[in-house]
Amino acid sequence: MIILNGKEVSEIENNKTAFFCDKFFNLKKRLPTLAVVLIGSDPASVTYVKGKKKACNAIGIKHVDFDFETINERNLRELVDKLNKNDEIDGILIQLPVSGFNDDFITSLINPEKDVDGFNAYNIGKMFIGNTAFLPCTPKGILHILDYYKISTEHKNVCIIGRSNIVGKPMAGLLMQKDRNATVTICHSGTPNLKEHLLISDIIISAAGSVNLIDASMIKKGCTIIDVGMNRIPDSSKKNGYRLVGDVNFESVKDKVYAITPVPGGVGPMTISMLMRNTVNAAFLRNYQFLPEHKYKWK
Ligand code: NAD
Repeated sequence: MIILNGKEVSEIENNKTAFFCDKFFNLKKRLPTLAVVLIGSDPASVTYVKGKKKACNAIGIKHVDFDFETINERNLRELVDKLNKNDEIDGILIQLPVSGFNDDFITSLINPEKDVDGFNAYNIGKMFIGNTAFLPCTPKGILHILDYYKISTEHKNVCIIGRSNIVGKPMAGLLMQKDRNATVTICHSGTPNLKEHLLISDIIISAAGSVNLIDASMIKKGCTIIDVGMNRIPDSSKKNGYRLVGDVNFESVKDKVYAITPVPGGVGPMTISMLMRNTVNAAFLRNYQFLPEHKYKWK
């Protein structure tokens, strides 16, 4: 059984992003810059934002922080408009969810050229029709993990569990493109026979947020599992009183799978890593109209 070590892959990708940051600095005499907007004090959002800023600092991306306890619609529109027009800002991250606002409304305010989360409908639409776009970071990170471990999706049955706009739908959109050539099934809370779909799947990508959703009786021998779920369960042995688990019962499936991502240390680190890459890409595209990986050779 192969453990798909997302932490290791993310470190490689972060080194590459840092290399591109240096190249950008040499050209522009400033660092690629990410505006980080946090509204409210939801503990999970605070933790995510902290992790993203830490990654910026480690890689060499400047972050400019905007923290508000609350904000009204007019002020939010004004803030994002200013960031959209500010030439020194390459990417805009507004940590979702924002209490009182619909996610789609928030993402629609961001200039698609600075939409480094890849959530804006324009980028999602471009991705679905097979054009180059900023890709949502979790699906993009999953593709990097599969590529790193040379797990092809060509002619494979891939079952995705979850239909969210940030994981399930874009993941399906990417894997059905000709370059990935997978036959994709999306299961969700309205799917009556999840097991039937899983048993014929070569690759399972689970983003349900449901502990122990999948066990060995539900999977085909030799399949690959990407466990996106991040569920907190009480654990008195931990300082914070909980630990993170995925959607999959790891102990149950481990001897039946070909490969699997652990939780934590699988998909999670890749999501932040891809946000960093999208930010550097945005800096190059906005200022020089090329992607760094098309110009600079990395190892
Ligand atoms: P969500 O929470 O918005 O929705 C969950 C989806 O799963 C829904 O579409 C629902 O229909 C489906 N679902 C729930 N229970 C199901 C069941 N029993 N059978 C079939 N389908 C079921 O989705 P999300 O925002 O994509 O998050 C999903 C999980 O992935 C969460 O645990 C979240 O924390 C995690 N997540 C992790 C990362 C990461 O970087 N590792 C990134 C995003 C989300």
